[in-house]
Amino acid sequence: MSSSEDEGGEEYLFKVVIIGDSAVGKSNLLSRYARNEFNLHSKATIGVEFQTQSLEIDSKEVKAQIWDTAGQERFRAVTSAYYRGAVGALIVYDISRRTTFDSVGRWLDELKMAMMLVGNKCDLDNIRDVSIDEGKSLAESEGLFFMETSALDSTNVKTAFEMVIREIYNNVS
Ligand code: GDP
Ligand code: MG
Repeated sequence: MSSSEDEGGEEYLFKVVIIGDSAVGKSNLLSRYARNEFNLHSKATIGVEFQTQSLEIDSKEVKAQIWDTAGQERFRAVTSAYYRGAVGALIVYDISRRTTFDSVGRWLDELKMAMMLVGNKCDLDNIRDVSIDEGKSLAESEGLFFMETSALDSTNVKTAFEMVIREIYNNVS
């Protein structure tokens, strides 16, 4: 995280990580947010990847460097290097697979700065396995923001990322 004066304007750079079980849609949330792209047959990400997104808050340029796991979540091998320097996180589960919701607690244990709980794939409402109320109440009890998203049809993707980035900004400015 950094803030610097540059030609009179202040700049911020925040590291944000996306975590959650394999195949919940982390990579697609990021590609939807950063490039407006969705891939129905995305393979596990190879190598650590991040995308930088800028937004303007209070007439200041705020950059978020958003990191996606390298498919390591399969092997419970997300390393401390991945979290190092992170000031915010999106913890993602798949609303159509309860096991991914049951894992949220384990991810929370690894990461104390978590800010946003994301129930992804809300387009799959017809095969929903976790209710909105369950997501909401877990978020409430853990002190997290909550949102259901769909990387497929874009529902709330931008809102979810920008809520985290704005909250970080509010905490540091
Ligand atoms: P990751 O392992 O968490 O990074 O998950 P991926 O982004 O690779 O997505 C896993 C699978 O879920 C892929 O087949 C995606 O096309 C699919 N997927 C991701 N997001 C959504 C969504 O919002 N809705 C639906 N229906 N499928 C999704
Ligand atoms: Mg991935």
